[in-house]
Amino acid sequence: MSDAWVCPECGLDYGTLHPPFAINTIKSFPRRFTEALEPAAPSEDNEAMIRTRPAPDVWSAIEYTAHVADLMDEFAVVIHRIYSEASPTIGFSDPDEKAASEKWNELPTEPLLGQLKANCAALVAEADRIDGAGWIRKATFPWGERDLLTMLQNAAHEGVHHLKDVEKVLTRVRSAS
Ligand SMILES: [Zn+2]
Repeated sequence: MSDAWVCPECGLDYGTLHPPFAINTIKSFPRRFTEALEPAAPSEDNEAMIRTRPAPDVWSAIEYTAHVADLMDEFAVVIHRIYSEASPTIGFSDPDEKAASEKWNELPTEPLLGQLKANCAALVAEADRIDGAGWIRKATFPWGERDLLTMLQNAAHEGVHHLKDVEKVLTRVRSAS
C-alpha cells in the first residue's frame, strides 16, 4: 500500500485514506461537484462560466467534472477486476482524447451530475465488497504494479484533486469576466 504520500498540489494525505474514509470521500463527490458548479451569484451567466477554459490547455469546470465522472467508472471496473481476477493487467484511457471525442465541454450539466452520482455509487458498491485480505490484491498498470487499496485511494484523490481544479478554474474565469 502507498502510505503517507501527500499530494503537493491539493494537499491530500494518503495516510488518512483508510478504506472507510476513502469510500465516504467518494460518496461525497456528487454533492460537492454539484455545489461547486452552482452560480456564484444569481446574475451570473453560469452556463458560460462552467464551460470556459481559463487557458487553451486547461480544462473548463464541466470538463473536469466529466473527467471525474469518467474516472469513477474506470475505477469501478478496475476494482472489480482486481478483486475477481488473478493479477490482471489493466490500462487507462487517455482523458484528453476522451474530452475531445466525447465533447465533454458540451455535456448538459444535470445528466452529467447524474452520471457522476451513478458512477460513484457503482464504485462504492464494488469497494464495499472488499474485506481485509482483498485490499492487498494486485494488478499491473502501465506505470507498474499497484494494490487494490492504492487504487481506491487514487479514486478518492482524483475526485478531491479535481474538485480543487474546478474551484480554481471558476475563480479564474469569474475574475476574467
Ligand atoms: Zn492532489
